[in-house]
Amino acid sequence: MPATGCMEPDSFSEAIASGYLLSRELMEEEDRHDPLLRTRAKFLLPPGLLYFDGNSLGPLAKKSRERLLRVIDQEWGESLVRSWNVHRWIDWPRTVGAKIARLIGAEGDEVVVADSTSVNLFKLISAAVELRPGRSVILSEDRQFPTDLYMAQGLAGLRKDLRMRTVERSKLTLALDEDVAVLVLTHVDYRSGQLHDMAAMTRAAHERGALVLWDLSHSTGALPVDLNGCYVDLAVGCGYKFLNGGPGAPAFLYVARRWQHRARSPLTGWLGHRSPFAFEPTYRPASGIGRFRCGTPPILSLAALDAALDLFDGLDLEMVWRKGVSLGDAMIALVEQECEDADLEVACPQGERQRGSQVSFRHPQAYSIMQALIDRGVVGDFREPDIMRFGLGPLYTSHVDVWDAVQVLRQVLTSRAWDSERFRKREVVT
Ligand SMILES: *Cc1c(COP(=O)(O)O)cnc(C)c1O
Repeated sequence: MPATGCMEPDSFSEAIASGYLLSRELMEEEDRHDPLLRTRAKFLLPPGLLYFDGNSLGPLAKKSRERLLRVIDQEWGESLVRSWNVHRWIDWPRTVGAKIARLIGAEGDEVVVADSTSVNLFKLISAAVELRPGRSVILSEDRQFPTDLYMAQGLAGLRKDLRMRTVERSKLTLALDEDVAVLVLTHVDYRSGQLHDMAAMTRAAHERGALVLWDLSHSTGALPVDLNGCYVDLAVGCGYKFLNGGPGAPAFLYVARRWQHRARSPLTGWLGHRSPFAFEPTYRPASGIGRFRCGTPPILSLAALDAALDLFDGLDLEMVWRKGVSLGDAMIALVEQECEDADLEVACPQGERQRGSQVSFRHPQAYSIMQALIDRGVVGDFREPDIMRFGLGPLYTSHVDVWDAVQVLRQVLTSRAWDSERFRKREVVT
């Protein structure tokens, strides 16, 4: 039960912590102090839409649109194939990778943009296993994002000497034995937003002689990551979530410098060759991270991603994360204050520094409720079996957005507007 009073709280987070009655005015006040106030105008967000799914598909940056038009008209349209040299298209996987490197605590030559996160998982799990001969287990967590498990299963299916093992989070350290070649973990859990302790888990794996591969899909661009500081071996991540690279944007991968001369990609495409335009009959890997490239990069998607990454120039990711957490804390507090539905439960961690930039709630009717919200212009998503998920892109979401969204949620719940045939029909993409 929130306390009511006329006393001004000292700060927003204190107001939330002390159960002070939250109001739209208080949210407006918080937005006035938002250090990211001006980044919102750099996106093309449809007016009136409350967008909470930037962790699935980030919004369109104005710069990306302009850049795409330029690349289409001038580079593709006019320079045509000459663009590979003239506009340096051939280098973009490396130069865009270097921009991402700054966001994840890596050196510029440790990151390359290529393929999808799924394909990069395959390449790096395979490389890790080869770097640990005599070990036969790929260890992961049972609630891991499925593609990470599927790709490991696919690789294990190709090699009789390899197997996949999954355990629950609390048993990971125990399961790290002398047989584990690589530990594959997602830094921010896609459903609950729960954060792994990257430094501690990496250390635990190394103590047992295993390598670590972190999936940064829900971390990159939302919170600070320090791959080098944590001595991480390998990592992958998404271009279209908090990096706002656009639908199907290429992903990135990281290989620590100390492994680059020995790590090998199993997908030995010509653009990972030391000298692609020598057209030699035998594969020889490029000397650095470039060996993890495979085929021709998707230039239009890379252009959109490259331009979107410029929005992070000069941004302190610690501050970005603090805002995301504040939005999440506000949403949880507001749902508790405004929504009296006994079936609604918070499904994400609430402690300090334990969550990425998203919140989730559990409800037996989560799917239908989310469809009713989307119908009213509040876009989040649904994750099996009963999770309503709200991504909180700190670069474009305001505290007032959160207030307004919770008002719509309250109205959907009290009116039972979700209880309708058309909100029960399962779409292909949820
Ligand atoms: C979104 C996401 C992916 C996406 O993989 P794609 O190959 O881009 O479809 C992979 N892993 C995690 C943890 C994700 O959240």
